[in-house]
Amino acid sequence: MNNLILTKKILNWYDNNKRTLPWRKKCSQKQREYFTLVSEFMLQQTQVSTVIPYFKNFIKNIPNLDSLAKINEKKLLKYWEGLGYYSRVKNLKKTAKIIVIKYKKKLPITLGELTKLPGIGEYTANAILAIAFNKPYIPLDGNIERIIKRLLNLKSEAEISKENLIKQKKILGTSNRSSDYAQALMELGALICKPKKPLCDKCPLIKNCKSYKKQDFEITIKRKKKIDKFFMIKIFTRGTKILLIKNTKFNFLKNLKIFPMEEISKPKNLKKSLNFKMSNMNMNINIKVMKKMSNIKNSSWIEQSKFNSYTLPTFTKKIFSLLSKYL
Ligand code: SF4
Repeated sequence: MNNLILTKKILNWYDNNKRTLPWRKKCSQKQREYFTLVSEFMLQQTQVSTVIPYFKNFIKNIPNLDSLAKINEKKLLKYWEGLGYYSRVKNLKKTAKIIVIKYKKKLPITLGELTKLPGIGEYTANAILAIAFNKPYIPLDGNIERIIKRLLNLKSEAEISKENLIKQKKILGTSNRSSDYAQALMELGALICKPKKPLCDKCPLIKNCKSYKKQDFEITIKRKKKIDKFFMIKIFTRGTKILLIKNTKFNFLKNLKIFPMEEISKPKNLKKSLNFKMSNMNMNINIKVMKKMSNIKNSSWIEQSKFNSYTLPTFTKKIFSLLSKYL
């Protein structure tokens, strides 16, 4: 496979098919760095279509690194509310502060320095270097991994291991348009080489693709096993108010408001439990309406009729919306 031809085909496809996304609009280098940082944090666990309105609102209200480094946490969480995984936005602010103070408002331009910043792992650092600084890096996201797996028809555990995919990445070559190239590959994976039913007749790589030749598009994915966990949520009410606590106990939704809850062993009767998926957990939740009030630390009483206007994690709001059956 000639890498140069492959690269040209992909860039040519991108030039004619790329989506207009708010973080791709023409802007100064300073804005490019900021837009890339914010969008990459938002996109870490969320799809493009969901991120777009959040990104626009975030940038409108927090337009640069300075304002992000200074904003108070309550306001910051309001602009992130609904995107979930709140540790991302807290890390984003910490990172902005470090960049403002230590790096004089300029994003560092080495992998080593970037990966030391809160919330920036290998993937995000690669994406920032490619997209914001036009450096020849290819961030290996799910979309790009899928293209490599399909182009080379990689199937076995060893073939799809991260180490092997990093090695095989070289088939994609490099371009002096590194920023466009990284985005072109992500875009091709998202729009054409889709997980189910890839649109091969629209793909610029159709002649180079081993999976197409074999008509075998099944993707092998290393799945993280979700762990079943069981929780008891306790509902305390006082008149029209309901009690929430600041979560200092669990690693998920850290320091955010949740209903008082504790982890329990698997109950005998599972039929009544609510189910949520949270990172690597299948959460099975039982709800208990409490009659007596005990002394609970870090608690606050929330007016039920105004519940949805508070800045609260989606998890807490979802539980609240299901409570009518219990109260
Ligand atoms: S030809 Fe089909 S399977 Fe191969 S890379 Fe293109 S879209 Fe994916």
